[in-house]
Amino acid sequence: MAEDVRGGARPRPEEGLTRRELGKLGLGAAVAAGGLLLGARRARAQDDKLVTEIEANAPIVSQLQYVNESPFPDKHCSNCVLYQGAPDSDRGKCPLFVQGVVAAQGHCMSWAPKPAAS
Ligand code: SF4
Repeated sequence: MAEDVRGGARPRPEEGLTRRELGKLGLGAAVAAGGLLLGARRARAQDDKLVTEIEANAPIVSQLQYVNESPFPDKHCSNCVLYQGAPDSDRGKCPLFVQGVVAAQGHCMSWAPKPAAS
């Protein structure tokens, strides 16, 4: 390693990255990781919202005529074959919606009965 005019060690280009450059890369990686975590946290927050509370869902909510309160007493999301929520939960995932959850008492035109347990 060569010495600079102040007597300190000066890395040569062929010796790879300096500590400062490594520090910048580490900071960049940390910022990128933080961004990914923030994105994942935002996605999770969206997953807790009802599908009707997410603006991007408006077209599919409309197309499926989804409502949070079923007009049919015996047809609601919690007894639909596509409902993925826990039996005692008031909301759960439906694969027809990428973001958000449906209300257990919700309904849409794709409702189909859950098969009876045997
Ligand atoms: S298909 Fe419709 S009725 Fe069935 S769980 Fe999904 S939103 Fe509810």
